[in-house]
Amino acid sequence: MRNPKNTRTCAGCGKKADRHEFIRIGKDSDGNVSIGDTGRGAYLCKSEKCLNAAIKKKRISAILRSAVSDEVYSQLSDIIGCD
Ligand SMILES: [Zn+2]
Repeated sequence: MRNPKNTRTCAGCGKKADRHEFIRIGKDSDGNVSIGDTGRGAYLCKSEKCLNAAIKKKRISAILRSAVSDEVYSQLSDIIGCD
């Protein structure tokens, strides 16, 4: 049985899946965006394709309503294992 409460949507491809399948990017109360469980969250598949799509369309910034630094994108890239 699927539990809809744990379903999240990828910021890159729009796929819905269990939150544990995604990397979470959070924004804390000071507006700092980082990878983790803080505050408002955006979700991304562990896929280079989704990361690139999310960067290109600025989907993570749109979801978090905050600018996402290159450092965060670079950390995501490391986690996913891009070249
Ligand atoms: Zn995706």
